Amino acid sequence: MTIFAKKTLTGIDPSKLTIERNPNPTTLPDNLVWGAHFSDHMLTIRHVPGEGWQAPKIVPYGPLALSPASAVFHYAPSLFEGMKAYKSEGAEPRLFRPDMNMARMLRSAGRVALPQFEPEALISLIQTLVKLDEKFIPPPPFSLYLRPTMIGTRPTLGVGASDDCLLFVIMSPVGPFFPKGFKPVSLLATTDAVRSWPGGTGAFKLALNYAPCFVPQRTAQELGYDQNLWCMGPRVTECGQMNLFVAYESADGVTHLITPPLNGQILPGVTRDSLLSLSRSHIAGEFVVEGLPTSKFEVEEREFTLDDLKLWSSEGKLKEAFGAGTAAIVCPVERIGIPNAEGTIEDLPVPTSESGLGPYATALLAMITSIQEGRIAGPKGWGVVCKSTSA
Ligand SMILES: *Cc1c(COP(=O)(O)O)cnc(C)c1O
Repeated sequence: MTIFAKKTLTGIDPSKLTIERNPNPTTLPDNLVWGAHFSDHMLTIRHVPGEGWQAPKIVPYGPLALSPASAVFHYAPSLFEGMKAYKSEGAEPRLFRPDMNMARMLRSAGRVALPQFEPEALISLIQTLVKLDEKFIPPPPFSLYLRPTMIGTRPTLGVGASDDCLLFVIMSPVGPFFPKGFKPVSLLATTDAVRSWPGGTGAFKLALNYAPCFVPQRTAQELGYDQNLWCMGPRVTECGQMNLFVAYESADGVTHLITPPLNGQILPGVTRDSLLSLSRSHIAGEFVVEGLPTSKFEVEEREFTLDDLKLWSSEGKLKEAFGAGTAAIVCPVERIGIPNAEGTIEDLPVPTSESGLGPYATALLAMITSIQEGRIAGPKGWGVVCKSTSA
């Protein structure tokens, strides 16, 4: 044995999983409040400095015991993911593009110096957890929302990277975001606070990005708007906790479905990527998205400003706007408030259709939910089935 050899840290090993069953199993509640109910079990994996990832555990859902000195409480090394499992009658539960969530989780961990892990190993453990608690997946359009989380748990107050880490996954049965039909939201262009800036952390799903948005959100609500339209200078970035899509018509009669590019200030949403990819496949003729135009239709990742929105609106060329994210999938926008130099707010109306959701979002929503629920195969790798394992 050589005492000089650098010890390699252990990775996440699904074969070491232990399962402690919940002695007090619960059932799916009748009235689901978003994010307020949890399944019977959770996955926990600790990372210990100098050793690496410890054996994964599935244990009854319940409180964590942490030192009050834990880094997460003081310096916020903390990140999360949001993904969903779907289960149609008689079918196995399905995850939607979990590789995208794992890749983003690794980038988030890297940004706050939390440990890296093997994405396939975590997906495999998540599949086991979902299968174990599959009775908590109500049939579509309901689903089970998964919240993988990592926190720095180093129990000392020194300011620096935390190699002590807890990775956990909790799961919450959720109803459709709009149980009584689509209710379009209003957005207030927020020009006195930013959620993301060059060199900042807005492109990572870090907990520290969210608390600073609470006051601007409350301000928007006090002024009669549902959510913030986040901007960086004159450029529009996102809305609420969603990526923003806008459809407008140019002078040549072409409809452009646009969303800001991933320039480091935009959260790279899995929904955003999926909607772009489906629209592009539709335009290329590889995959038909029923309801999208077959000509004079372009999809672009490009910058746009509040002035662009005002111009398109004044010319009657603003056709549709919607947010995109895992929770709501798509969320129609009916009005955008833009503060002007006089200190008043100018309201731009945005067209919606009778259902509340405009035609582009309607077409894309129908296609993405068919894939998520397993009714249509969709592109390779998008649907991942959760089967029982021997663990
Ligand atoms: C999570 C999130 C999104 C949407 O990402 P999805 O992967 O589609 O759920 C968009 N913007 C922000 C700020 C987010 O936190």
